[in-house]
Amino acid sequence: MSQKTARANLLDKPDGHFIIGEYPIPDPVPGAILARIELCGVCGTDIHTWHAPPEAVFGLEYPISLGHEISAKVEALGEGVSTDSIGQPLKAGDRIGFIPAIHCGRCYYCRIAKTPEKCTSWITYGTWGNADQEPHFTGGYGDYIYLHHPNTFLLKSGTTAERTAFMEPMAVVVHSLLHAQIEPGDTVVVQGSGPIGLLTIGACKIAGASRIIATGRRNRRRLDLAKEMGADLTICQADMPSGKDRKEFVYDNSLNLVGADVVINTAGVAEAFKESLNFVRDSGTVVEVGNFVDSGTIEFNPCRDLLEKGIKIIGSFDNEAEHFVRSLPLIADERIPLESLITHRVPLGDVEKALATIESQGKLGGKEIVKIMMDPSLPEA
Ligand SMILES: [Zn+2]
Ligand SMILES: [Zn+2]
Repeated sequence: MSQKTARANLLDKPDGHFIIGEYPIPDPVPGAILARIELCGVCGTDIHTWHAPPEAVFGLEYPISLGHEISAKVEALGEGVSTDSIGQPLKAGDRIGFIPAIHCGRCYYCRIAKTPEKCTSWITYGTWGNADQEPHFTGGYGDYIYLHHPNTFLLKSGTTAERTAFMEPMAVVVHSLLHAQIEPGDTVVVQGSGPIGLLTIGACKIAGASRIIATGRRNRRRLDLAKEMGADLTICQADMPSGKDRKEFVYDNSLNLVGADVVINTAGVAEAFKESLNFVRDSGTVVEVGNFVDSGTIEFNPCRDLLEKGIKIIGSFDNEAEHFVRSLPLIADERIPLESLITHRVPLGDVEKALATIESQGKLGGKEIVKIMMDPSLPEA
């Protein structure tokens, strides 16, 4: 048999290395889709999975495939597939994005609580075990993605590959915005100027925030980007080291002069959440999306910090179908300059180097990183 092969860059063991293997390209079975990967965002989440102890990675067998921020072009449709998951006609050559997580549709969280992102028996294309075995091409770091699970939720995208690769992180942002319930006239503080923070700023502007104050720790380049994305004012902690000053700045610059109506924390530091409580006005809303891995514990006074202030504090976890559908018009909206976030494109073999550089907060090719895209069509270095 002379079946053609293609590459997948798989993590070989816990805390191990990413190794490129050649695997047979599958012919899609009925209901499945084979798509060629155009771009895959290199995401901080993959760093945590890379270094996670085996028991933390859902008990998966290695090697595992990572990469979950994917823009792909349909190569072949299995029998019976003629549309995406919301009924848009689909043919070879169409650009798609999809939810990496596959929700079971049957458990309590899927059916009753209607929060499928908390599904108790989920699996995900972005973290797939035994990835060197069939079905091949189960993650974003490769030449192909093979969407074979019947519960896969995919969407045809009418915009560019660059923008489509933001469909997944934008769905994270949409989820937090649905919690935030921004209203006209609102002052919104967005803490953290990483990719999720910057996307949040762009989406908040379109969702109707009248004033956006963005915060970052020390990276001024990212705070310039925050302005490009729609922030009206920025706070660089390195320039304003006193928490009291930062709180005053937010109060003085909120349109109501009593603090932020909504605070969205996208920074993965426990102290950042503590600061959210300083920024929010009485009876306002705090959405926590940044601390998606355990970053420690803070002091919290239920009387002073919560009840007396009368605030809402909402944790926003991952994303699901509704968030993807709502992210489609946002990634296509030219008012959000998504292209500005892409600082690097790397070939498939550079995924490990890219992740390590994000982790060390270093520069790649002499340039500070905001978003790295893996592009499998680039020649290996
Ligand atoms: Zn991600
Ligand atoms: Zn479920």
